[in-house]
Amino acid sequence: MSSPRILIIEDEQDVIDLLTLHLRKAGFALSTATDGAVGLRKAREESPALIILDLLLPKMPGLEICKVLKTDIATRQIPILMLTAKAEEIDRIIGLEFGADDYVTKPFSPRELVLRVNAILRRGKGEAGDEKKLSIGQITLDPSRHHVTVGDKSVRLTSVEFKLLSMLMRRQGRVQERDRLLNEVWGYESVIDTRTVDTHIRRLRKKLGKASSAIETVRGFGYRIRES
Ligand code: CA
Repeated sequence: MSSPRILIIEDEQDVIDLLTLHLRKAGFALSTATDGAVGLRKAREESPALIILDLLLPKMPGLEICKVLKTDIATRQIPILMLTAKAEEIDRIIGLEFGADDYVTKPFSPRELVLRVNAILRRGKGEAGDEKKLSIGQITLDPSRHHVTVGDKSVRLTSVEFKLLSMLMRRQGRVQERDRLLNEVWGYESVIDTRTVDTHIRRLRKKLGKASSAIETVRGFGYRIRES
C-alpha cells in the first residue's frame, strides 16, 4: 500500500525541512509548495490525504488559500492543519472559521505535530462505514455517504462539523460535555482549548440555519439535541 501523501504549503525552508524529516519518518509521502498558487494546483492534482498550510505566505495569505480549498469541490474534503506564528486567539478562530480542521502554533514540537496529523487522519477514517441514516426534525445525516441534508437541501460540513453533529444526533437527549466532544472528535486530550468546540458548534449552527435550534447549549456543560 502506498503511504498517505501530505502537502506542505510553507515558504520557510527550515520549517519545510523539519516537517519533511519528521513526517517522512512517520511514514508519509510528501509534496511541498512555497506559495499559494502552486499549493492550490498541487492540492487539486495530487489530492493529498492532508494539507499543512502556513498562515503567513508571500502573495496569497494562508487564510485565503484555506478558503479556496474549502470551497472547491475537488479539495474541500481534504483536512487542513494550519500553521501560525501568531498565538492570538483571534487568528485561531479565524483559521477555524475559514474551515481549517486544526492548527499548530509556531514554534511547534514536531512530535506534537505528527500526533495532530495522525489524529486528523484517524478522525476522517472513523466516519466511513455502513451505518444507518439518522434523522432529527429537518436534519438527516447519512454516515456512509458522509452527507447531511436540512429538508431537501444538502449542507456542506467539514469533517469536524460532521463528526460533532453525528455525535450529538446519536446521543439525542443526552448532554455532551465539551471535554468529551473534544476527546472524541479531535482524538487527543487537552492539547486544544474547549472553546474550540464552541467555535465549531457555532459554525455548524450557522450552516444548519433554522434547523440548528435542535442543538441546545447547556450552560457550563456542553451541548445536546433535544428529545423530540
Ligand atoms: Ca511563512
